[in-house]
Amino acid sequence: MQPVALLLLCPLAAALSGAGGPGGGPGGSRRAGHFWHVTDLHWDPDYEAAAGAGQPCPSGGPRAGPPAGPWGSYLCDAPWRLLLAAARAMSGLLPRPDFVLWTGDDTPHVPDEKLGEEKVLHIIENLTSLIKETFPDTKVYAAMGNHDFHPKNQFPGRKHRIYNRTAELWRPWLSDASIPLFRAGAFYSEKLPGTNARGRMVVLNTNLYYDQNDETAGEEDPGGQFQWLEETLTNASRADEMVYIVGHVPPGFFEKKRGKSWFRSRANERYLEIVRKHHRVIAAQFFGHHHTDSFRMFYSDTGSPINVMFLAPGVTPWKTTLPGVNNGANNPGIRVVDYDPDTLQVLDMVTYYFNLSRANMMAPTWEEFPAWEEEYRLTEAFQVPDGSARSMQAVLEGLWQGRLLQLYHQFNSVSYDLSPCEGPCRLDHVCAIREVDFTKYKECTSSTGSAIASVGLLFFCFLLGCLSAQQVL
Ligand SMILES: [Zn+2]
Ligand SMILES: [Zn+2]
Repeated sequence: MQPVALLLLCPLAAALSGAGGPGGGPGGSRRAGHFWHVTDLHWDPDYEAAAGAGQPCPSGGPRAGPPAGPWGSYLCDAPWRLLLAAARAMSGLLPRPDFVLWTGDDTPHVPDEKLGEEKVLHIIENLTSLIKETFPDTKVYAAMGNHDFHPKNQFPGRKHRIYNRTAELWRPWLSDASIPLFRAGAFYSEKLPGTNARGRMVVLNTNLYYDQNDETAGEEDPGGQFQWLEETLTNASRADEMVYIVGHVPPGFFEKKRGKSWFRSRANERYLEIVRKHHRVIAAQFFGHHHTDSFRMFYSDTGSPINVMFLAPGVTPWKTTLPGVNNGANNPGIRVVDYDPDTLQVLDMVTYYFNLSRANMMAPTWEEFPAWEEEYRLTEAFQVPDGSARSMQAVLEGLWQGRLLQLYHQFNSVSYDLSPCEGPCRLDHVCAIREVDFTKYKECTSSTGSAIASVGLLFFCFLLGCLSAQQVL
């Protein structure tokens, strides 16, 4: 019997194991701080002109579809008007966050020939200005997405003029020590703002590990980022700090397409090894790239949940062209994370969304922006006390049991795809969340006997639950 399988199927076993999120427990203060996580804005600068001329949007490619709406289209990347709506919503809902996480992908999904280095930098500059104007006195931790380079995905593990130019754009947000590091590989680490001396942000350039990146192919540790990450986490541990890890391309698998991973195999292994080794100082991880709302679990060798990575939904509604993905669009989403400033434990998350089809039915006026609505609050929707690894393990168990599956599936596309998630859909989501490791993911998705084994385990858990309840009561 695999411990992970037991934990997945048995909430009581997870609770009894005593595994929880770092910094959790009754000793931690619960004074909440708040920050925004926004990702995958994917501005299409030519959207409005194309719509005005009755043409399909450039980012929609050859796909036929309905005419582009004033606030955007599910087949297209974001018009400026949608990004402005997102910025206004953020400043209206939480104008003074402790900080902002911005995890990249600024440019539209168009061929490299239609962009070029200057246009990519121009787009990064415009989005940087938008975020700076929205939060003028706020620290922003920005990470580069795989689309924030020319040619896209081709990030080198060494100095590059695009890194230099981006470092200049982000200079107001970067410390003096971070600038040379950013120029050499687009990753950096900084203490969190405020009086709290225990918090640290680690911003990674995981585009270096993307299997579409030919620049770093064959390199064991491009840019020396893994070694730097290990040193940074070791130093954090010695300084009694807690860390958030932030990046764009996540390890593991895409939950909407079976077997679709992003990292090279060895980089995926190394990332997992580092999280396992240093999990006590990692309070949580925040990534983007999927455009969907999901999470990833990390386990100890004995199967205890030790860490969680939150994948935030994108602002672009763009329907993915990845073959095999069924109806892969989303409503635009933005997210506030409530956290404990002393321990960095994630206390809650509120995801806000823009109902694009409804907004497009309204008259487009610059004065009247359609509202971004609260989609869900993590603790209320999933009935968990916080966003710790233990709580997210309980959510995962709820998905597998079916209890929370439909709700999670609705949120996964930011309330765009309301179709039922059954059979292979459930397995794809559960295995992607549970198994970041390539081999274990394959076992999870291909094990036809697992469903039968599950019934036995479930019965075992039922018995264990009865026994435990008697002891507690
Ligand atoms: Zn993206
Ligand atoms: Zn991306």
